[in-house]
Amino acid sequence: MSNHTPGPWSVDVTRPVAALNGDIAVVNDHGTLIAVAYLRRGKQTGANAILIAAAPELLAALEELAPLAVENTTLIYYQGASGKWLCRWCLTPEGKAHLESCSWRRAREVIAKARGETA
Ligand SMILES: [Zn+2]
Repeated sequence: MSNHTPGPWSVDVTRPVAALNGDIAVVNDHGTLIAVAYLRRGKQTGANAILIAAAPELLAALEELAPLAVENTTLIYYQGASGKWLCRWCLTPEGKAHLESCSWRRAREVIAKARGETA
């Protein structure tokens, strides 16, 4: 389980940090500052703030979608109608490339990263 500030988080463009130079604040539901998306030459500041604000909900959704993948680190294949062996988790044909790209494996890794655990 992660020790991050509980969500929901939201973008708050009224914070002083936002008024000064275009930086955008991300706050929790009590208005406590969580993070700041800094204005840079690109125009991604708003999108970055929105992504940061969504992080707790993204993690929770991924944890809900992938409990078996988190608990089961063994890739399991089954023979599909085409005769190819497919990953039980992501339905990708078995192969060396799949071992690196399995979406469920990546889900486990990113959940561990977000929790501050080693994958
Ligand atoms: Zn897979």
